[in-house]
Amino acid sequence: MNIHSQLEDTLHKIKKASNLFLGYPISKDFDYGPLFEFLKYPVNNVGDPFINSTYKVQTHDMEREVVDFFANLFRANPDDYWGYITNGGSESNLYGLYIARELYPKAMVYYSESTHYSVKKNIHLLNIPGIVIRSQENGEIDYDDLQNTLQYNRHKPAIILSNFGTTMKEAKDDISKIKSILRKLAIQDHYIHCDGALSGTYGDFLLERIPYDIADGADSISISGHKFIGSPMPCGVVITKRSLRDRVSKGVSYIGSLDTTITGSRNGHSVLFLWYAIKNMGVEGLKARYEHSLEVAEYCKTRLLEIGIKAWSNKGAITVVFPKTSNAIKDKWQLATEDDVTHLICMPNVTKHQIDAFVEDLIKEKEAEAVLA
Ligand SMILES: *Cc1c(COP(=O)(O)O)cnc(C)c1O
Repeated sequence: MNIHSQLEDTLHKIKKASNLFLGYPISKDFDYGPLFEFLKYPVNNVGDPFINSTYKVQTHDMEREVVDFFANLFRANPDDYWGYITNGGSESNLYGLYIARELYPKAMVYYSESTHYSVKKNIHLLNIPGIVIRSQENGEIDYDDLQNTLQYNRHKPAIILSNFGTTMKEAKDDISKIKSILRKLAIQDHYIHCDGALSGTYGDFLLERIPYDIADGADSISISGHKFIGSPMPCGVVITKRSLRDRVSKGVSYIGSLDTTITGSRNGHSVLFLWYAIKNMGVEGLKARYEHSLEVAEYCKTRLLEIGIKAWSNKGAITVVFPKTSNAIKDKWQLATEDDVTHLICMPNVTKHQIDAFVEDLIKEKEAEAVLA
């Protein structure tokens, strides 16, 4: 195959695969056409976004705007926040845990069994001892198990990895409950990182708020940019406190900046995408996206229940959980399945029409089974 036809072929496959997926938290309703011209330039955001570096082919000013936007959304102290655009939620989690370990080198990290695999790998990379806490049936951390385990280790500083939207069931841990356990046990040396990869972006819009942000007690929060907002390439945001970041910063004269980020060279294009998205959507637009997703999720749940499928969702979640589907359905709709559950995520691009088509497939399958039986 020549270059041209191989490209055509790949494009065709990507288009086809992208038309039918309901199982992953990836928005695809974006149009970044006006930014195409930027692909002609080696945009690289090397260094700290808040410090002028020697390398000028960058989008640091926009990166700061994106950080400002999320710091504000996560109710950070206006005089004490910092952050940067990462390569995704995994790197954002690594950053939060990295600061935590620098602050408390002798700490233990506590995370629930529903925690994303990136966290387990990150604590392995950082060589922090960790303890897995039980999850409740809905995927939320088991606060009793957390309290008992913390009590047993209360002589050590504690790093808590709190989930705001677990990968499978979109369960959200309540930071105020975690804080009150730490208070009760008088564990003063503690750090809370909130993994809000998917749901952090709309946490502020939940009808019944679940404490998760900086004002609620998180020391850092991570989100993935390519999930709820949507981006052609993976990206993420991490927000923390400037005072905490200062503990890990080192000056590097070669780039004329501070080496405060995980990677050296950083994607300056993904910053453009995120900046463009938040400029166009604003807080109101994000909220409307969430409300649409929630409505479709409720619709999906109702339709599944109507045909006898035991579907459920956590309060305020856009993820609908149900018993494992057949492989044919799972493959066609690219549904993520773990143990005995499958989920469908009503991202902003998912429509009721698509839900109908999906439910139609389930009905047809049931009818075919009935004929065979
Ligand atoms: C997706 C996800 C991550 C990892 O994010 P990436 O952007 O894929 O690196 C972390 N935590 C949770 C809960 C996630 O769903």
